[in-house]
Amino acid sequence: MSVTLSEDTPLLTQYREIKSRHQDAILFFRMGDFYEMFFEDAELGARVLNITLTSRGDGVPLAGVPVKAAAEYLRQLVANGHRVAICEQVEDPRTAKGLVRREVVETVTPGSLLEDGWIAGGRNNWIVAVNGGGKADGRTRGRADDPTARPPDRLSVGLASIDLTTGEFLLETVPAGELEVVLGRLKPAEVVVPEGSDVATDPEVMRTAREPWEFDSGLAGEELARRFRLASLDGLGLGETDAAAVGAAGALLRYLTGLKPAGLSHIARPSVRRSAAHLWLDEMTRRNLELVEPLRAGAKGVTLLEVLDRTVTPLGARLLRQWLLSPLSDPVEIGRRLDAVDTAVRDPIRRAALREALDGVRDLERLAGRAAAGRAIPRELGALRDSFLRLPAVRAELEGLCGEADGRSGGRTDSPPVRPSALLELLGELDLLADLAALLAAALTERPPAALGDGGVIREGYDAALDESRSLREGGKQYIASLQQRERDRTGIPSLKVGYNKVFGYYLEITNAHSAKVPAGYERRQTLATAERYVTPELKEYEAKVLGAEERVAEREAELFGALRDAVGRAVTRIQQTARVLARLDVWAALAEVAVANRYGRPVVTASFDIVLIASRHPVIERMMPRETFIPNDVRFDPAERVQLVTGPNMAGKSTILRQIGLNVILAQTGSFVPCERAEIGVVDRLFTRVGASDNLAGGQSTFMVEMSETSAILHGATARSLVLLDEIGRGTSTYDGVAIAWAVTEFLHDTVGCKTMFATHYHELMQLPERLQHARNLNVAVREAGGQVVFLHRLEPGGTDRSYGIHVAELAGLPRQIVTRANAVLRTLEGEHRVVPGTPGPDPDPGQLPLFVEAPPDPALVELRSLDLNALTPLEALNRLAELQRRAGGPA
Ligand code: ADP
Ligand code: MG
Repeated sequence: MSVTLSEDTPLLTQYREIKSRHQDAILFFRMGDFYEMFFEDAELGARVLNITLTSRGDGVPLAGVPVKAAAEYLRQLVANGHRVAICEQVEDPRTAKGLVRREVVETVTPGSLLEDGWIAGGRNNWIVAVNGGGKADGRTRGRADDPTARPPDRLSVGLASIDLTTGEFLLETVPAGELEVVLGRLKPAEVVVPEGSDVATDPEVMRTAREPWEFDSGLAGEELARRFRLASLDGLGLGETDAAAVGAAGALLRYLTGLKPAGLSHIARPSVRRSAAHLWLDEMTRRNLELVEPLRAGAKGVTLLEVLDRTVTPLGARLLRQWLLSPLSDPVEIGRRLDAVDTAVRDPIRRAALREALDGVRDLERLAGRAAAGRAIPRELGALRDSFLRLPAVRAELEGLCGEADGRSGGRTDSPPVRPSALLELLGELDLLADLAALLAAALTERPPAALGDGGVIREGYDAALDESRSLREGGKQYIASLQQRERDRTGIPSLKVGYNKVFGYYLEITNAHSAKVPAGYERRQTLATAERYVTPELKEYEAKVLGAEERVAEREAELFGALRDAVGRAVTRIQQTARVLARLDVWAALAEVAVANRYGRPVVTASFDIVLIASRHPVIERMMPRETFIPNDVRFDPAERVQLVTGPNMAGKSTILRQIGLNVILAQTGSFVPCERAEIGVVDRLFTRVGASDNLAGGQSTFMVEMSETSAILHGATARSLVLLDEIGRGTSTYDGVAIAWAVTEFLHDTVGCKTMFATHYHELMQLPERLQHARNLNVAVREAGGQVVFLHRLEPGGTDRSYGIHVAELAGLPRQIVTRANAVLRTLEGEHRVVPGTPGPDPDPGQLPLFVEAPPDPALVELRSLDLNALTPLEALNRLAELQRRAGGPA
């Protein structure tokens, strides 16, 4: 900028002083009815907002937005990834001596929105602080040469997440290697990291760096204990291993407090999320299964969430999304959720009544948060009141449901005393907020307006002083109205009228036709084209009374409203608790509704290894077809047959059955009924779904390299309790590379991991695998010929496919005879060429089979090498094992 300090006016000096403390933000500098931006901020603001860039007399670039329209401009800037500091005039310009004092009252960033209506009701707006996990992280530095240090991906990262709109506060500790997955689940609007951290975050998401000392866990622990009035952090279920998460929480609270100096009283006590209690889903799995987002942006009706979301409140919608992204892994907890759904399924009348009662409940969490932050407008307190008034009806239906549930389990007297059912627990937690409901009902008008100032907020009879000012105002108005008739009679001017405008106040208007009859004592104030306006001393006297009363009405209303808002704000914790009860109720009622509407059944969820799905369907695809046209299939995984290879031609339904299994498991572990006639599900700890590159709908950005790195993540992450669903892995490369990789991957999952695996492939070569792998079997998705037509039966059957199926299908599809013959000949040649070792001995040397891979006695050293878990070894151990292997191989030592 060409402007030097010496040229600065006092105003610019003030501006520079404030801006120097908010360098990373665009400064909205309040000047009268505008927020002005100066210098670089003006240039940036003008570009992003498409508004005019001007300059002051002294050449300083300037762009401004009217205060009245500021919310929309603010929203645009934040949506474009900027932070905006709002600097207000903090004294009355009329009484200020010299320059008006100004202060930044709030900074708005993508992760710290409190504004109404900026974020969709059905999702959270998380801001996440990440502590540790980067290579330059202080806790790993200096240990690099320590041979006993664990490999980096086993180091833990602490995360603290806050949704400022709802007050939710979450702490978790995860291995560094899983950070990306957690961030993928939360989809934060902003990430806060220590300065210098090299933790990778989504470049699309705002990244805020804070001083490393702010992440100190000791300091943070004190701050948490002070803020939530705790004697120690044990009460939150936090232990020593959570130090990094506590540090993250401290840094996050400090940062948010800086952004919102007016306070953050609505942030709830943090809850601690333990990954071991949840089904672990990585980003690819969430995407491939289209849990909450469609693979193709904008596609409608394709996600599991859309099928399930029959919630009637935003509270329930958000919770359902959280649950789907983070199903449980403990059969007991899952059983409690299923019981609740079951109860609601069995009582359609109460379920309907409950949903009806919930239907009018507004977004309690966000409304209460706005009240606590001093931002709620009259209409929002009205919405809270209307919501509170529905709570007794909610309670009545819940009580009814609890009675039902008890009645059914009442017979089992032999069972030991257990935790009350989830519904009974809710009943105990449901605070009807009757005091607040009564207060708001007595105080607020039927439909409070959006803004204060019009006098329609507080009900008559609530406050004597307000009522008195109102009647004075009304009396004055009536007197002035009666004046019109009197003056008409007195002057004989029938068109004389009393009017009001903001500049001149009350006036008497006389058209020019009667100007001769204007009586003495009328003072002219304004001349119009066809009339003149006058005042009289009497009119002015009453005007003063009316306006004085009006001012008192407005003041008193503001006072009373402020007190109401504070009362609601003080109860924010109780309101949040009730909101969370309602959210669960809403979700359970919705899941019951879906279960009935879509004919789902209750799964039996256990700790066993097996998964059995009888007559199972795909919850999303079946909804896209006419009723009853989706073909159900049976699926069974058990220790004897835990690896399953599914072959079949294109369009047979391989991908569908694969996803169907994943979705059914997720549904069951979320606590939902499932689209199956019968389902027994041994809980899974991790679910992986991978789709080969050429089959990946994600939009062609997936290369073979990506496919392989995704596959390798499974090979590292899966345990014997995991479920792995592989769809055409290995397709992204030339045929024999692909087969080879697919083969090796399957072998590894079978021999080393021992997890449940289903592998869909059109490589019929893989059908030889079960001959080698003890716990594997072949399946195929059947296709038949009927009347010369190819018919896709979509039926999963035991055994492999005829390997010339493609050609057979082509024949059925009407390809000329000549081409089919030639294709068969080419196929035979190709098969011959790729015979790796002719005449391979096999268990049943079938001349038609492709002996692609040779059975050789495995070298014991190789077997051991293969089974080494490198991640579990220290460098020292690794060296010893290597020496041992070398010795056995006949080398030195
Ligand atoms: P593949 O992966 O074997 O090529 P898909 O799983 O993509 O086949 O299925 C192709 C189409 O077949 C699906 O889009 C769906 O319309 C239909 N389909 C698949 N399974 C079934 C089924 N069980 N019942 C009815 N239609 C099915
Ligand atoms: Mg497919």
